[in-house]
Amino acid sequence: MREKRTLNLTNKERMNLPHQEMILMEAEERVCSFDEVPIGYNHEQAVMEASRCLQCRKPECIKACPVGIDIPAFIRLIEQGKPADAAKKIRETNFLPAACGRVCPQDKQCQAVCVVGRRNLPVGIGDLERYAADYERKYKTLEYPDIPEDTGKKIAIVGSGPAGLSAAYELRIRGHQVVVFEAFHRAGGVLIYGIPRFRLPIDIIDEDIKFLENIGVEFVYNMIIGKILSLDDLLGEEGFDAAFIGTGAGLPRLLDVPGANANGVYSANEYLTRIYLMEADKFPEFATPLYQGKKVAVIGAGNTAMDSMRTAKRLGADVTCYYRRSIEEAPARSEELKHAQQEMINWKWLSNPVEFITNEDNFITHIKCEIMELSEPDDSGRRIPVATGKFFTDECDTVVMSLGCSVNPILPATDREIKINDWGVITVDGETCETSKKGVFAGGDAITGGSTVILAMGQAKIAAASIHDFLMGKTKDKEEESLEMV
Ligand SMILES: Cc1cc2nc3c(=O)[nH]c(=O)nc-3n(C[C@H](O)[C@H](O)[C@H](O)COP(=O)(O)OP(=O)(O)OC[C@H]3O[C@@H](n4cnc5c(N)ncnc54)[C@H](O)[C@@H]3O)c2cc1C
Ligand code: SF4
Repeated sequence: MREKRTLNLTNKERMNLPHQEMILMEAEERVCSFDEVPIGYNHEQAVMEASRCLQCRKPECIKACPVGIDIPAFIRLIEQGKPADAAKKIRETNFLPAACGRVCPQDKQCQAVCVVGRRNLPVGIGDLERYAADYERKYKTLEYPDIPEDTGKKIAIVGSGPAGLSAAYELRIRGHQVVVFEAFHRAGGVLIYGIPRFRLPIDIIDEDIKFLENIGVEFVYNMIIGKILSLDDLLGEEGFDAAFIGTGAGLPRLLDVPGANANGVYSANEYLTRIYLMEADKFPEFATPLYQGKKVAVIGAGNTAMDSMRTAKRLGADVTCYYRRSIEEAPARSEELKHAQQEMINWKWLSNPVEFITNEDNFITHIKCEIMELSEPDDSGRRIPVATGKFFTDECDTVVMSLGCSVNPILPATDREIKINDWGVITVDGETCETSKKGVFAGGDAITGGSTVILAMGQAKIAAASIHDFLMGKTKDKEEESLEMV
């Protein structure tokens, strides 16, 4: 039996309720600080937004969520004024609700299929998730899960991004000992060294790490698996029974044009990591330097490009985006693009960089671009950028290339049993996420290439369930299985 709704409204009336916009810090104010841009819902707004949900009998939104959050159930709890219970409900399937409420591409997943969106703006599922998670943090209502008796099995997690953290959580709550090995000196992966603080405050991730430590997950930092210890060391001398690879896709793709090696040219990964992980903007207080340009050119129009532009803006630069397609093809989340537009970024659409011009000391001074135009849509509807033979040159002293990333190659390069495909992505069994090496599983960007936080978490959940089955003898050994089939 479904509990009664708080407001006595028909579905038609709910459909017509206005969408509650989260209040944002003013653009002029926010470009001067790294504080979070959205201020969040107050209680009344959250209840009103929750009232827009129709509590569908066959909710498409759940199917569209890679970790299957019971979206109508948590929204109903918010409508009933029970945000702590709503957070608890989300945690049944997603242990990073505060992060996911902020960074998940809901507009392409759950909100894209929300039925309310057929006539009005869809229910703000992400904003409501964020509200419930923030309530839990503010009023300290978080409850720790009961950890079952120790199974005696020990699992090594390589990498502490959303995939590694999720796998660690799922395995720990099944009673296994879990050790996370991280190459950097802090845990969180892209959540701490890529996604800027004004989108995802660092204390949220630190609290999630503390939560894992409190339930018994161990973290080992400054440990590159594949260099300092190998997978065989972990599964041999170090006594682990299984391993999970969540090493992400941190290898940047770069433009091969004249001047690409000039001083002042960065990949977006390096630029953001220097600032957010190494705190280079505070040099010399922190040891890592950063060339802080006054005119910054960012190449690309995805999420990482938006993050780089908005970061450079906060460091006081005049920032221009160069993208070889038009705004319609920009792959960034619509919200990120909108926020960047509000923050006085300059836009050069249909502009393909062909050269970085330098001075005699090899410092970049200008960017040269070819003007592009888009072809007619092909059979798949895609419009290809076509060179026009016309060029322009702009002044700039820093370039940040944001052209996507490839899978981190260290592990497959140092362990030949880990197979990769032609794109360097680690290949896994589609059902279990097991790699070609026995007892080693993988998930996240390492098996997909650059993707999303929630997809990484979804795969880690599958891998963790498979590791559990493997360790508890619930799956048959592949060799045994093939012998049986002979
Ligand atoms: C700037 C930026 C913005 C983004 N914005 C969004 C967004 O808004 N929403 C969204 O959903 N997604 C976003 N993404 C993508 C998302 O962050 C990734 O899909 C997600 O983090 C992948 O998780 P992961 O755990 O697989 O890898 P990662 O988060 O990359 O974590 C991998 C971890 O493994 C460690 N590691 C690597 N090799 C080794 C080794 N050999 N030994 C030990 N440790 C190792 C790394 O140091 C890192 O900590 C963004 C990505 C970037 C770069
Ligand atoms: S699809 Fe939309 S209206 Fe239906 S249950 Fe999900 S959030 Fe509510």
